[in-house]
Amino acid sequence: MGKIIAITNQKGGVGKTTTSVNLSACLAYLGKKVLLVDIDPQGNASSGVGINKGDVEQCIYDILVDDVDIRLTIKETTVENLSIIPATISLAGAEIELVSTISREVRLKKALQDIQDQYDFIIIDCPPSLGLLTINALTASDSLIIPVQCEYYALEGLSQLLSTVRLVQKHLNNRLLIDGVLLTMLDARTNLGIQVIEEVKKYFQDKVYSTIIPRNVRLSEAPSHGLPVILYDPKSRGAEVYLDLAKEVIKNG
Ligand code: ADP
Ligand code: MG
Repeated sequence: MGKIIAITNQKGGVGKTTTSVNLSACLAYLGKKVLLVDIDPQGNASSGVGINKGDVEQCIYDILVDDVDIRLTIKETTVENLSIIPATISLAGAEIELVSTISREVRLKKALQDIQDQYDFIIIDCPPSLGLLTINALTASDSLIIPVQCEYYALEGLSQLLSTVRLVQKHLNNRLLIDGVLLTMLDARTNLGIQVIEEVKKYFQDKVYSTIIPRNVRLSEAPSHGLPVILYDPKSRGAEVYLDLAKEVIKNG
């Protein structure tokens, strides 16, 4: 059975999508069969692996709202071993449309059960909110990776996320674990980054990944080419660190 990992933090711009795309691609590069699931209406993870959203006929929206067979939505990507369930802007309405549907929190979980045994890892890129889309992701997942940006107020909002996680654990998914906090966008030239690392480690202790993601321009350029960094520039620091993260994730089992 594939391990399902949600990349989540209700703050925008902390590196969720960058991590979803590049962790998925690096796991695939290391020979794992990977499914990336985009549940952010912005669909940035989808374009990040070369999906042209204009060509997408059925996306995650159709699974969640219309009970479409999940197999019909899976697409191949630019990366060998990596498939994706894309998101398009139609998903923007789902948060509201789901409110009145039966078993609205478990729709993603139910759909993924049909295909989970075909993958080693299923990575879910969450939107920047704690609404029903994120709740669906948390309910479907075995574990979470929480990207935290190395800057002021890094820990702000995390208590709200953690209390949502506890509610999901209590009522919807008692298997859910926090695998780890991933420090992102470290600017090694400033002391601030070091302070944030210490603060986050004090709070989360051994739940912080040893791999820390630095700022790397290749990571921000790669999406405009529809490529994960491991294909865009395999020798870059960005590719190296996401490979390290993938190895840590595999080691954690
Ligand atoms: P989120 O999905 O949490 O909103 P993104 O992954 O989209 O965050 O990242 C926000 C922006 O920062 C994007 O433009 C992305 O390219 C850029 N970015 C993310 N991680 C890095 C990094 N390590 N180095 C440089 N730019 C980054
Ligand atoms: Mg994103």
